[in-house]
Amino acid sequence: MESIPATARLRLDKDALVQNWQTLDRLSGTASAGAAVKANAYGLGARNVTRFLIEAGCHDFYVANWREAAEISELMVDNACLSVLNGIRDEDMAFALNMSAKPVLNSIEQVRRWAPTGRPCDIMINSGMNRLGINRDDLEQADLGTLAIDQVMSHMASADEDVSQNADQLAQFRSALESINGQRVSLANSAAIALGSDYHFDCTRPGLSIYGGKPRPELESLIQQVATPQAQILQVRELQPGDKLGYNAQYTAQRIHRIAILAMGYADGYLRAFSNNGQFSHQGNALPVLGRVSMDLIAVDLSADDSLREGGWLDCSYDLLQASRDTGLSQYELLTNLGQRFDENWI
Ligand SMILES: *Cc1c(COP(=O)(O)O)cnc(C)c1O
Repeated sequence: MESIPATARLRLDKDALVQNWQTLDRLSGTASAGAAVKANAYGLGARNVTRFLIEAGCHDFYVANWREAAEISELMVDNACLSVLNGIRDEDMAFALNMSAKPVLNSIEQVRRWAPTGRPCDIMINSGMNRLGINRDDLEQADLGTLAIDQVMSHMASADEDVSQNADQLAQFRSALESINGQRVSLANSAAIALGSDYHFDCTRPGLSIYGGKPRPELESLIQQVATPQAQILQVRELQPGDKLGYNAQYTAQRIHRIAILAMGYADGYLRAFSNNGQFSHQGNALPVLGRVSMDLIAVDLSADDSLREGGWLDCSYDLLQASRDTGLSQYELLTNLGQRFDENWI
């Protein structure tokens, strides 16, 4: 099956990926940047991304759970280390003890579970997001003395906005740090790296911006696009004035013009929000999406390019910031929604 060429491809730019990480590492100042590679590296392929970033000098990697850890743990060479953000359950213990990855302990329960192993771990502090993490006031009773703590972490809820919650969380975290000792301290995701040196501590944990996301204006001119979906033309046809197109006839031709039917759809993560809204291109010519996106098919206007025929390939406009503004989907969703039917093509 692998040998049958796919009808849609994901063009992935290795140089852009590595340069984005290097940019985030530089912006992190004296802190070193790690990499969040959870959710299959936001859909772009955790094994390839991890390999490329280890080559580039990245040391700290973050996944969500132990299945994701198992996918890439063998790649952790040259002192690279792997943290499991969602912590450790009873049913993870047997696997965890056979792997070099560290759990991020999120609750007192998890501290009790891990302490007897004597192995390294990270600790998550709740500084006001109220998702995962131990409350500052519970640290005393947590009995952390016996743990081998590498990173003491917290996570920012709103670093992509200029709101007082950012400084509030920083203050909460600093106060918690008075009652806990680890090797290193880590707070910032991609957006918080752009908030400045107060937020950097020893290591930062960017994800989104490594993959081309721009959560804050400061990053817009510095971060490059990594992923570009490409779809093949399955059929070219000419519409007459009054002709209706696609499910529920969400486009009606006003003039004679050519369209292409492309092999991509919402099953590939190109969601209905792009109906009459998305754009493809060919050699710089803009080819707008017409009508409703189907499960496996999309129609685009070929008025701007007479040369296109069946079998041709079009680039999807997928600048994450622009696509997010156009559709209301988050930049995170635009990446992690990308489906399983693409041939991944690192260049
Ligand atoms: C996902 C995640 C990150 C990375 O966040 P981005 O916004 O993608 O940079 C960092 N830390 C934690 C705890 C996360 O869950």
